[in-house]
Amino acid sequence: MRYEGVLTKMRTEITDVVQYYLVWENDFLNLNQALGKKISINFLKFQCLNCGLEKKIFRQGFCYDCFNSIPQAGDWVINPELSKAHLGEEDRDLDFEKRAQLQPHVVYLANSSDVKVGVTRKSQIPTRWIDQGAHEAIEIVEVPNRYLAGITEVALKEHVSDKTNWRKMLTNDIVDLNLEEEREKLKEYIPGEAKEYYIASNKETEIKFPVQEFPKKIKTLNLGKSPFYEGVLTGIKGQYLLFQDGTVFNVRGHEGFVVELKILV
Ligand SMILES: [Zn+2]
Repeated sequence: MRYEGVLTKMRTEITDVVQYYLVWENDFLNLNQALGKKISINFLKFQCLNCGLEKKIFRQGFCYDCFNSIPQAGDWVINPELSKAHLGEEDRDLDFEKRAQLQPHVVYLANSSDVKVGVTRKSQIPTRWIDQGAHEAIEIVEVPNRYLAGITEVALKEHVSDKTNWRKMLTNDIVDLNLEEEREKLKEYIPGEAKEYYIASNKETEIKFPVQEFPKKIKTLNLGKSPFYEGVLTGIKGQYLLFQDGTVFNVRGHEGFVVELKILV
C-alpha cells in the first residue's frame, strides 16, 4: 500500500487501546493495522499548512511568514496566560481569538513520564492527553476562558513540572501515581480568580497505547536531515511512531512535510 500527502498530526480515538489515523487528502490510514509491518517514509517536499506553498516549515507546520502572521500561531497559543480576548483586546485577529479563547478550558495533571500540569480546550480532552503520551490524567479546574486557565497553570508550575520527558515516555520508564492525591496537594496554589472552578469529583482517565515492544535506547528520525527511512513499526505512543531498531518518529514534529509512505510487508 502506498500513500502520499502532507503530514498532519495523527488523529486518535479511544477504544480499549488508542486508535491512530493518518489523514490524507482523500484517504486515511489506521496505523494500528500496520503494527508489526515494515514501513518506508520518503520525504518529498515542504507544504505549509496555511498558505500551501512549498516553503521551509518553521514551526507547527507553518512557514516562517505564516507562523509570524496568522492568528492560530499567536503567542497566547503556547502561553495561555497572554490571552486577551476576554478583555476585548486583539492580538492578531480578535474574532478568531474570541472563538478560540472564550470557551471552556481545562487545567489538568497528566502523567507521561513525571506528573506535569497543562492547559487545553475542554473539547480537546482526551485528545491532548493522548498526544502527550500520558498513561493517566485528571482535570484540576474547568474555567470559562483561556486566560484563567493560563494564570492557573503559571501558578501551579511553581509546584509541578510543565514538561514531558519524552525519552522516559517512549521507553516506558513510568510510574503509576494517584493523581487525585496529586491534585489535592495542588489545590491551595490555585489563584483566587480560578478557585471556584476547582473540580473535586472526577476520576483519573487511564490511557492504553498500541505498543508491542518499547525501545530500550532511542534515536530520533528527522526527515529534514535524513529524508528516507524504512523499519518495522512496533508501537505508537503520543504522536510518535516507534520502530524495532529504536528509531522514533515524531509525526507532529513533521507537520507540513509531504511524504510518500509505503506499507511493505
Ligand atoms: Zn505559509
